Amino acid sequence: MELVSRLRGQSTTVFTEITALAQRHAAINLGQGFPDTDGPATVLAAAKRAIDDGANQYPPLSGRPELLAAVSAHQRRRYGIDLDPEREVLVTVGATEAIAATILAFCSPGDEVVMFEPYYDSYAALVDLAGATRRTVVLRFPDFAVDEVQLRAAFSERTRLVLLNSPHNPTGKVFTRAELELIARLATEHGAWVVTDEVYEHLTFGAEHVPMATLPGMAERTLTISSAGKTFSVTGWKVGWVSGPAAAVAAVRSVKQFLTFGVNGPFQLAVATGLGLPDAYFDGLRDTLRDKRDLLVRALTGAGLPVAVPSGTYFVVADVAPLGVVDASAFARLLPAAAGVAAIPVQAFHDDSGAARTLLRFAFCKRDDVLTEAGRRLARLSGGQQ
Ligand code: PMP
Ligand code: GLN
Repeated sequence: MELVSRLRGQSTTVFTEITALAQRHAAINLGQGFPDTDGPATVLAAAKRAIDDGANQYPPLSGRPELLAAVSAHQRRRYGIDLDPEREVLVTVGATEAIAATILAFCSPGDEVVMFEPYYDSYAALVDLAGATRRTVVLRFPDFAVDEVQLRAAFSERTRLVLLNSPHNPTGKVFTRAELELIARLATEHGAWVVTDEVYEHLTFGAEHVPMATLPGMAERTLTISSAGKTFSVTGWKVGWVSGPAAAVAAVRSVKQFLTFGVNGPFQLAVATGLGLPDAYFDGLRDTLRDKRDLLVRALTGAGLPVAVPSGTYFVVADVAPLGVVDASAFARLLPAAAGVAAIPVQAFHDDSGAARTLLRFAFCKRDDVLTEAGRRLARLSGGQQ
């Protein structure tokens, strides 16, 4: 039987494809973003304890009360956002399910969704599945600044949602307060809601992460999504959440109940423990990743590649044009065999076919020795010394 036409262009994600290539060629995988070291021992121990303590049957649809309370406390402590844990927070199967359920809850055929490209791949797939139309605004290498004229032009009377992601995958951009205020103003003028994906909220390097829901008047028209994967280095656990006004969260819950119903209980309890860790944990994670960013940026520039130094996430975008590459999508498919390193072609996250022709995204959430070796291998491509 054939896949529905709405999803035919996106039958296998670029992450799955590049990871398979990396494995086939035993390459260093700087493609799919996952850490190669475990998260905090207390959080891992809490998951094991929860299983031993019998938290193994269906949890409540909205989430375990312990995690709902922990998300609410985290938002208050970090950002001064007040949430009623019972009505304004919903636990989901990773941020991915939160994105899916939110788009399916609010978008119908004919609705338009304003989003920035490059975009995280599931945004485009879900807008397509919902039968809605995306109106994209291109962020261009190397500064990835928001073009106000393009952004204004993307809005119309059909705009239903703005899909925002800050810190931004794949560019590493952290949207400035002024950019967020512009987005907020335009969304408000057009009666649109903002769905903001903040899964990299703790991974910023010298830039301030401003949650959209903290801007004046925005809490009432913003749904905020985050997850445990990056914050606690547990991308395989798939525990996420969405928060915002009660009626909107209830609508997302109505969709979510038919996608997966509940979310695995033991890991919810462990993530609740994690969110309660002292600030020193979050600061330590950020500092460690900043050092890794610097290491990989040095390696890439040492290999002769211009980079956009990221102020957030664990990704860095580099331009491979100096290697004589004219099509980074094809090059990324050769790189694991040719150099023993895997990376993601940024073009995979674009509608604009010329926006990222020679750009690759490299993940730096890896051990220092792994990053150093990847740098050595890449330097050989350009004939550089490392
Ligand atoms: N949003 C963004 C921007 C991401 O980079 C990712 C994956 N790393 C997700 C959502 C998905 O998060 P999760 O693994 O929690 O589903
Ligand atoms: N979010 C991860 C990345 O950007 C990949 C997630 C996935 O494999 N779907 O690399």
